[in-house]
Amino acid sequence: MASALTEKLSRLVKELRGQARITESNVQDMLREVRMALLEADVALPVVRDFIARVKDKALGQEVVGSLTPGQALVGIIHRELAATMGAGVADLNLAVQPPAVILMAGLQGAGKTTTTAKLAKWLIERRKKKVLTVSTDVYRPAAIEQLKTVTRQAGAEWFASTPQQSPLDIARAALDHARRHYFDVLLVDTAGRLAIDEAMMREIQALHAELKPAETLFVVDAMQGQDAVNTARAFKEALPLTGIVLTKLDGDSRGGAALSVRAITGAPIKFAGVSEKIDGLELFDAERHAGRVLGMGDIVALVEQVTAGVDLQQAQKLAAKVKSGGFDLEDFLEQIRQMKKMGGLSSLLDKLPTQLAAKAGEADLSRAEKDIRRKEGIICAMTPEERRHPEIIKASRKRRIAAGAGVQVQEVNRLLKEFEQMQAMMKKMKGGGLMKMMKRLGG
Ligand code: GDP
Repeated sequence: MASALTEKLSRLVKELRGQARITESNVQDMLREVRMALLEADVALPVVRDFIARVKDKALGQEVVGSLTPGQALVGIIHRELAATMGAGVADLNLAVQPPAVILMAGLQGAGKTTTTAKLAKWLIERRKKKVLTVSTDVYRPAAIEQLKTVTRQAGAEWFASTPQQSPLDIARAALDHARRHYFDVLLVDTAGRLAIDEAMMREIQALHAELKPAETLFVVDAMQGQDAVNTARAFKEALPLTGIVLTKLDGDSRGGAALSVRAITGAPIKFAGVSEKIDGLELFDAERHAGRVLGMGDIVALVEQVTAGVDLQQAQKLAAKVKSGGFDLEDFLEQIRQMKKMGGLSSLLDKLPTQLAAKAGEADLSRAEKDIRRKEGIICAMTPEERRHPEIIKASRKRRIAAGAGVQVQEVNRLLKEFEQMQAMMKKMKGGGLMKMMKRLGG
């Protein structure tokens, strides 16, 4: 099972961290465990053998460098080899064809095809500046067609209408024709999925593939599926020339094995990872980072990047200067709240932390905290610029007006003002230097 792999590896990592020396025997012990864990995750035996051989080779030949302890060096080797097994670097989409480039989405029902189709549409529009059309060939579930329409709108892409009365092939032809005539760069084709692998479904998607000649045939698979993901992957690989994999629901508990096994079985690179239900919850898959996740070390790299990308350093310096001069006002308070939101909210940051830490923080507390941030923003937005700069002028009647404007109780306005005062006092104590130190620490 995927989660078993993660658990075992993190336990090994912990044990190895204390080891003083890499010896033939502790390498053997450790590799036996890794081998079992991989087999349990249903990774094909030749892949496991190959993996173990590579790690062993490197571990025994390893010079122990610098400040690294041997245990850490070994973990480093496993980390790199895990990453290599899942694919080197980041695999992008191949869109270098005569437009429209067709992307065919394959996978079981519930894997996340429709959601991913819309996420990908948004990604292509925003990151690749493409003109994107989506279409659903799921004539068995009218609700699926409607769902694609809704999420396509959210993505800001265009949707090509289809009905359950048409055949999937007719829909595909008509959509392709429309895409050509209206100069779309990309046509995303969402297909029907069944709850289990089914011959009729496979024949249908093969026919679609033959008709559309897609630039990309993406296999969408739920990372939470564990063992089943492997069987599904095998069936789709046999039916279609897959060019890439999208691993969805990586925000769930089971983060490890599916990536390894699906990649190993299909031979196709994992191109994207679904990391939330939201329309922007799609990332280019980064094997290096994911290997870290499998090892249970948490996605520290991502966390650091997110923090440094989200926090505008100039803004931070300005803030520090203001604090120093005692001019920290509600305007700045609002700015801080917005920075927080820019970083993708608390729970998205939490996802990147090692699981043990994340579990401690607790999901429920977080969503409450996020709601709280939004309410605070609402309250400050209901103030006039004058009030934000001089919160001391906010007396009873102003409070009532602000509360009404933000749709909250007066008590909440009071609470915010009090919190602001406390923060102001605290920041005065830090005298800017502390704040910069805090930011630096976050930024690595
Ligand atoms: P389809 O039947 O393959 O088209 O699957 P859907 O796109 O309808 O997705 C099935 C469910 O999985 C929906 O509730 C989605 O919101 C959810 N889902 C899809 N991708 C992700 C993801 O990356 N993370 C999470 N948490 N949920 C996802």
